[in-house]
Amino acid sequence: MLSLRPIQVMMFAFHIHTYSINAYQIPRLIVSWSLKTFHTYNDHFRRRSTYTSKLQSSICGRCMPSALQSSSQDIPHENRRRRIGIIGGGASGMFSATAAADAISKISSIECDVVVLEGTSKTMSKVRISGGGRCNVMHDTTKALPQILSSYPRGNKELRGLYTKRFTPDDAYDWFTSRGVQLKTEADGRMFPITDNSQTIIDTISQAAIKAGVEMRMKEKVDSVETNHEGQYVVNISSKSSSNTSDRVKSEEVFDSLILATGSFPLGHEIARSLGHDIVKPVPSLFTLDSKELTSNEGIFNGLAGVSVPLAQLTLVINDEMLGIKQSTDESIESDASDNPPAAKKKKKRKKKAPTIVQEGPLLITHHGVSGPAALRLSAFAAREFNEVSYKCEVKIHFCPKYEEELRDMNKSGSSESLLMDALWDMTRMIPKRRVATGCPLFLKDSETNREEDSQKTLPVIPKRLWQALVTEASEIPSTITWADVSKKMVRSLANNISAFPLKVTSKSTFKEEFVTAGGVNLKEITMSRMESKIVPGLFMCGEVLNVDGVTGGFNFMGCWSTGFVAGESAANFCCQDLIEN
Ligand SMILES: Cc1cc2nc3c(=O)[nH]c(=O)nc-3n(C[C@H](O)[C@H](O)[C@H](O)COP(=O)(O)OP(=O)(O)OC[C@H]3O[C@@H](n4cnc5c(N)ncnc54)[C@H](O)[C@@H]3O)c2cc1C
Repeated sequence: MLSLRPIQVMMFAFHIHTYSINAYQIPRLIVSWSLKTFHTYNDHFRRRSTYTSKLQSSICGRCMPSALQSSSQDIPHENRRRRIGIIGGGASGMFSATAAADAISKISSIECDVVVLEGTSKTMSKVRISGGGRCNVMHDTTKALPQILSSYPRGNKELRGLYTKRFTPDDAYDWFTSRGVQLKTEADGRMFPITDNSQTIIDTISQAAIKAGVEMRMKEKVDSVETNHEGQYVVNISSKSSSNTSDRVKSEEVFDSLILATGSFPLGHEIARSLGHDIVKPVPSLFTLDSKELTSNEGIFNGLAGVSVPLAQLTLVINDEMLGIKQSTDESIESDASDNPPAAKKKKKRKKKAPTIVQEGPLLITHHGVSGPAALRLSAFAAREFNEVSYKCEVKIHFCPKYEEELRDMNKSGSSESLLMDALWDMTRMIPKRRVATGCPLFLKDSETNREEDSQKTLPVIPKRLWQALVTEASEIPSTITWADVSKKMVRSLANNISAFPLKVTSKSTFKEEFVTAGGVNLKEITMSRMESKIVPGLFMCGEVLNVDGVTGGFNFMGCWSTGFVAGESAANFCCQDLIEN
């Protein structure tokens, strides 16, 4: 293993000559240098041998500039200054860069550049506008991990290891607080800096990056990435020229390892695809549901904007007919057969099924339809299904799932409609003289409706204005009718509208506080414990470029901190492993 090849002997002589090594240092040097060369060759062998044939045809065939070839061949690998490139200076990219530079600074002898290439003029633009300018930096880290993980429609299984072993929600909390950021937790679990200003988070990460020695380069857009024969990354950059023209200056940089942190930007997906990765079709997540019909002048929700229900349950039912229309054209993997034949093979026809996706939470009626956590959660968990039917479908709203649960706890059984029908029919005995439209006669303790102000107070499960609309308009019960005079048919209709109100979704709207993209680099191709590509060694990824996304509430940044930290630390290890071992 330690036998030296002629080229190694020559390099050894070069070492002695270059560094004026004394005779007594030579035996130690032989051992150490042989080990280094072994690791270097081993590393190169590892890099090369793991290439897939797909990669060999798509990447290795491309030429590396001759100037780069000669420079890297002249200097022995172990003596070369190492370089880590991060494409994208968003939340995850900046966090990964800081982690990489911090990891390297712990090993004093290693010289390694950590360079962030950001296409725009500012880093962390989304952090600035996040959480309405307050930055919902993470979710309540004291919550049980399964609860936290259940808030990721995509990535919940894959994040488990990261959140338990590599960079936990508590680690993220400590990272910020140890750097002087005071955090507060709101009643719904969202955590913000006490300044209520996203600039606090931006400043903290920027200062940590500067302190760790990260080089940040703005207005440097990465157009494409190739690998050279040494397994390094050749990054093609276009930057704005200093003159006021629209000309862009093209340049190239070489890195030993690369972190792709381009968020949901299509060019980032294109780069990942060009390096051999499959991209799960990106579709919007976290949007509000619009219904033209319900909010029109004649619609049931007309005039109800601002009314909120403390706890509602939304069910998306996509019927076969809707899916059938789309089935002939849709694939879960977006790919172009001509550009990417292996990915094209993965095209599969979606199995015919009628999905039912259920989410609960507070619900807000808006001028255009519904919003609030229940609607946003449904939009996230059913992001792909909504997209498949072009945001035209029916969502059933149960306005009092908690009340139904209470009835079931009292050993009552039957369908939702029949349970509520019985509960409402009781009113014909209990409050016969009261008009049905007066207000909701079903009450729950305040704490049970999800509000915390007064745990003993009881409140009607449906707010008055909404109740009146459900009675008079949806169920067509005359506003003057009393419980004594109501018919069974009317009560059944009301029970149905309370437990399965049909919300006809006609489109979606952007939720301005937070939105993300579902889809991105397929997680099956990522070693999550290192955030490293399984296809191209030395390529790491973090943040929204991956097929990971959470519901609203700080989960998306939490994912950025964890995947970013691990990608950064792993890139540092990859880059300098041979030096660390010696
Ligand atoms: C309005 C809004 C509010 C939000 N609020 C919250 C919140 O309060 N809490 C929360 O958890 N989440 C929030 N999110 C989601 C969160 O912002 C994202 O999940 C997060 O920013 C993703 O970080 P990222 O680093 O992966 O990508 P990004 O933040 O999108 O960063 C990617 C960066 O890469 C750069 N880039 C892309 N391609 C290239 C290229 N080819 N070359 C060079 N640079 C490139 C881009 O310019 C960008 O700066 C919000 C999102 C939005 C849109």
